[in-house]
Amino acid sequence: NLTSGIVGLANVGKSTFFQAITRSKLGNPANYPFATIKPEEARVIVPNPKLDHLVDLYNSDKRVPSILKIFDIAGLVRGASDNKGLGNAFLADIRAVDGIFQVVRAFEDPEITHIEGSIDPVRDLTIVQDELLLKDMEFIENAIERLHKQLKNRGGKTPQDIADMGEEIRTLEQAYDNLIGGQRIMNKTDWDDDQIDILSKHHFLSAKPSVFLANVSEESFLSGKVKDSLGSIRQWVDEYAPGSSIIPVSASYESKMADKNPESIPKNSALPQIIQKMRETLDLISYFTCGPIESRQWTIRKNTLCPQAAGVIHTDFETTFINAELIKYEDVANLKPPFDEKILRSKGKIHRVGKNYIVQDGDILTFHSAA
Ligand code: GDP
Repeated sequence: NLTSGIVGLANVGKSTFFQAITRSKLGNPANYPFATIKPEEARVIVPNPKLDHLVDLYNSDKRVPSILKIFDIAGLVRGASDNKGLGNAFLADIRAVDGIFQVVRAFEDPEITHIEGSIDPVRDLTIVQDELLLKDMEFIENAIERLHKQLKNRGGKTPQDIADMGEEIRTLEQAYDNLIGGQRIMNKTDWDDDQIDILSKHHFLSAKPSVFLANVSEESFLSGKVKDSLGSIRQWVDEYAPGSSIIPVSASYESKMADKNPESIPKNSALPQIIQKMRETLDLISYFTCGPIESRQWTIRKNTLCPQAAGVIHTDFETTFINAELIKYEDVANLKPPFDEKILRSKGKIHRVGKNYIVQDGDILTFHSAA
């Protein structure tokens, strides 16, 4: 299960946003008892209208949605990367997540001190990025030193091992040049597939997929005119993290609404979009298993083969996989209950797929296994 972390300077609204998530209808659902969740971790239901329809169509007793784990990673400050104590702990927490929600303060409020003295989203984006880059530089220095030590002692190493280590050092040196130039590791470089494999092993902070959350004032969020004020953030993101999404949010509005009516998600809440964007950013898609007992959404990475997708349900299913029956969501999207498998079958809408089938978003699958 992939995780994401909320990152940003102090006083930008991270905790307010995190609390809004946990208190909203989407947060920490009942099948995850609170006791098993750490205070800084939220499990959020992934909103999915397709699942609603399938529960209805199959007349399922239970609806089991996917979950996204979100961690509140407190207190990144300028200089965190050379702080041997707390600063390093934050950065280690960031290293452990798969994706980053970066909260940027875009709301004015004289009552709430900005730790840098003024509201300047672009400066804040730069401060946070610099800490990530500096930390990655330190990782690379250590990794290269380790590799050189290993290379000195060639006993037991094949020529291929030695060539691989050489390639790793060269790739890391090139990545280091990127960082020195003020760029994230993946940015502005045409890495080949082997290099990408090398780099992803290292879990660099500046290579994590990011979604930027612009915490705007309640008034501008509700006015719908917020896009205009995001220009400078957009420009920065296009330059330093191209392709990443920027979502305007009002942490205080979300928080108020979650308190006022925890049973429903307000129509203008940014939370569903935020969760969906992070899933897209992490290349996550869903397939469904449906029946009268339950309809369930399962999360996989894009380009997952059928046996591996089955393995998400139970690891044994991957090895015992024989084949699967597939219904495309589009073919049932407009059907009314009760679900009639015979009719669907007679129309040729139930397909048999094997171990080379790449599961697509929205597929409805029934697996056959040898177990
Ligand atoms: P964190 O340090 O990033 O976790 O920031 P907090 O969520 O603790 O927020 C810092 C302060 O800013 C708190 O007093 C919040 O009530 C306030 N705050 C958070 N979001 C907003 C907002 O959207 N508008 C306004 N006016 N205040 C906010």
